[in-house]
Amino acid sequence: MIIDGKKAAADLRADLKKKIAELKSTYNAVPGLTVLLVGEDPPSKIYVKNKEKFAKEVGMNSEVIRYPENIEETVVLSKIRELNNNDKVSGILVQLPLPKHIDKRKVIETILPGKDVDGFHPINVGNLSSGYDSSIPCTPLGCYLLLKKVEKNLNGKHAIMIGRSNLNGKPMTQLLLKENCTVTIVHSKTKDLKAECSRADIIIAAVGKPKLVKGDWVKKGAIVIDVGINKTDSGLVGDVDFDEVSKIAKAITPVPGGVGPMTIACLLNNTVECFKKVQSK
Ligand code: NAP
Repeated sequence: MIIDGKKAAADLRADLKKKIAELKSTYNAVPGLTVLLVGEDPPSKIYVKNKEKFAKEVGMNSEVIRYPENIEETVVLSKIRELNNNDKVSGILVQLPLPKHIDKRKVIETILPGKDVDGFHPINVGNLSSGYDSSIPCTPLGCYLLLKKVEKNLNGKHAIMIGRSNLNGKPMTQLLLKENCTVTIVHSKTKDLKAECSRADIIIAAVGKPKLVKGDWVKKGAIVIDVGINKTDSGLVGDVDFDEVSKIAKAITPVPGGVGPMTIACLLNNTVECFKKVQSK
């Protein structure tokens, strides 16, 4: 089974569009997403353009604030504080990476946790790992939703998380633990990656190494979620050797068209959730 992330994302957006219309009729207001983009990083510009497009498509208010590469950190921080106090803004996202002179940690910690749609604020990270309600980082949330489409009950499954980044690996392990998986986290210092992978019922790869996971690393019937996006001479590829692994796995996400489309849909979902929490207070 090839897991169709494009379709899953389109379904989630359609569902959000309905929810937003209902929220509008109940509260006479719609969720608002504000994205701050600093500099001219080409992939960031593409991501932000898509975020804006899909936010509008589902009926949200969407705003992008663009700053030049050399903008002072204080300007960005004071804009975030202003947005924190703006009732029309449900979610704030600062597009990463930021230029070196801007302290990413300071920026993330300035966003009000209740408007942190990326789920990067330490309060949200802590809440997620404590099993409390929190914003969940968008890419792991997308992986989780795709995984649940294949297998509703993950109880007792052995999952391998390849990669331990704050963005992907660490939050994903929390979601897997919540589902009662037995989770192994592997990384660049792991001794025998192949042996670890070959024991897993679920493999999630968020590494950034083209086709790292080979067919003979994967147990027959495993579910494989590929987060990696790697530019190669033959186009975009994931961290999993799709041709080899798709013959062995029970289900696998393609690259492109797997996890990628879910990330923005989950960002919109997080924005709606932030809006709902404020309205229900
Ligand atoms: P990252 O911060 O660079 O983390 C990569 C992780 O992989 C690290 O934990 C690293 O280990 C581990 N690693 C590196 N080489 C390894 C190896 N040979 N064997 C085992 N583990 C290894 O990357 P990231 O931000 O999580 O992103 C990972 C990939 O996902 C990238 O390709 C990125 O483009 C993609 N991505 C996709 C989406 C999407 O929407 N689909 C979103 C975000 C990212 P150490 O900790 O030991 O260094």
